[in-house]
Amino acid sequence: MNPARPSEVLGNICQAGISEVAQAIAAAKAAFPAWRDTLPRDRAEYLLKAAAVARERIFELSAWQVLEIGKQWDQAYADVGEAIDFLEYYAREMIRLGTPQRVGHAPGELNHYFYEPKGLAAVISPWNFPLAISMGMASAAIVAGNPVIYKPSTITGIIGHQLVEIFREAGLPAGVFNFVPGRGSVMGDFLVDHPDISLIAFTGSMEVGLRIVDRAAKVYPGQSNVKKIIAEMGGKNAIIIDDDADLDEAVPHVLYSAFGFQGQKCSACSRVIVLDAVYDRFVDRLVKAAKAYQVGPAEDPRYSMGAVADAAAQKSILEYAAIGKQEGRLLYESPVPQGEGYWVPLTIIGGIRPEHRLAQEEVFGPVLALMRARDFDQAIEWANSTRFALTGGIFSRSPEHLSRARRDFRVGNLYINRNNTGALVERQPFGGARMSGVGTKAGGPDYLLHFMDPRVVTENTMRRGFAPIEADDDWIE
Ligand code: NAP
Repeated sequence: MNPARPSEVLGNICQAGISEVAQAIAAAKAAFPAWRDTLPRDRAEYLLKAAAVARERIFELSAWQVLEIGKQWDQAYADVGEAIDFLEYYAREMIRLGTPQRVGHAPGELNHYFYEPKGLAAVISPWNFPLAISMGMASAAIVAGNPVIYKPSTITGIIGHQLVEIFREAGLPAGVFNFVPGRGSVMGDFLVDHPDISLIAFTGSMEVGLRIVDRAAKVYPGQSNVKKIIAEMGGKNAIIIDDDADLDEAVPHVLYSAFGFQGQKCSACSRVIVLDAVYDRFVDRLVKAAKAYQVGPAEDPRYSMGAVADAAAQKSILEYAAIGKQEGRLLYESPVPQGEGYWVPLTIIGGIRPEHRLAQEEVFGPVLALMRARDFDQAIEWANSTRFALTGGIFSRSPEHLSRARRDFRVGNLYINRNNTGALVERQPFGGARMSGVGTKAGGPDYLLHFMDPRVVTENTMRRGFAPIEADDDWIE
């Protein structure tokens, strides 16, 4: 349904229960040997074809995001663009990694280092980057040789089905990509626990991520792999405003980082830590500028903020806004449309301190906490004072402070004098550590390695009457 108009039904999604997930796993298992033995370069070709299919359909795919999840046009287009980038980048990466490397140079010995897929991959996605994150995780698993069982978020099942359409048009062999739309609460544990699953690529909340990590540690009868978990989770991201920051730059970038797509990005800024000397001036300008953000349906380009994902998200965000008003002081709350739709106001709360819930818990929506820091040391200390370590930002003109931030502001992605959302594949490999994730970087040079096991073959070439070198050259391609 359209979150701006829940009475508008956009599509009906069949729901996979346990028996359908079991069928999907069986199909993936049957497809595994042939897919594993398909040359990496040939596997990469399917991704390049899929990228071409998505590029051809980019406006239609973007339009579905405006309707099904309330993304503004530019945000929707960027999501589809990122999905295409993932396909092309991982295709190139697999071609690079797919060639066995010769290691060591001792005479009379030939050592080859190469990778093989881990096995069946469960891919479990969130709704907030419904095509890009799904496509990123699924295409990485596929190109590395692992058949996929893909579970989209319940909220974005139509966009989830677009992966089926794209891979089908790209000609991917049957059984390599298997779509199981359904509720995590109904079949999530079955998928995670299944002994035939070797790898789980998950992006979503810390709560569900930790549950998966916990359950996946258990070994069930018939299981032959230790499950590998790739988990990207939440954040409580801060931007520091130094006392010499250029506020003309800082104010619009903070607003965009905090309220773009209603603040529903793992990378979104949710805390601004402002040095005492500029706090009042910054707050005054931020609040004035925030009034330009109007809330309304994403289909209408006049609005900068749309509806939030669903009724549960709306309820949780409004509860946190109420907590914030008690812990700190309400500085601004925007008007919202009347009538149906999951609307929440753009909310700015001042006077928040590190011990407050608003400074510690992820609020997946447009609620921004402002914190007044005594000096730069305290700002860095507060920035690092949550369990998360995903993104961070700093606006400063001091080379000394910027260099300290590079070293001491411990996040996965730190942005200097710019907004802290919108990481681009290859240019800003993305992902956090601590409770934000297990430290993998999507769209980066190490990512595919998490989906494969390395192998080494060592041959003694000192034997007589035998010429192995040419044969090996063939194998190398
Ligand atoms: P979520 O509630 O954790 O759901 C994520 C996925 O897990 C959904 O497909 C969900 O299915 C599924 N799921 C739920 N229970 C499950 C279970 N017991 N076993 C297996 N799967 C289960 O997260 P969300 O609300 O979709 O997304 C927002 C969260 O994602 C935020 O915390 C955000 O920070 C995080 N995120 C992180 C990154 C990153 O790169 N670090 C990127 C984007 C989003 P249902 O939809 O059926 O419940």
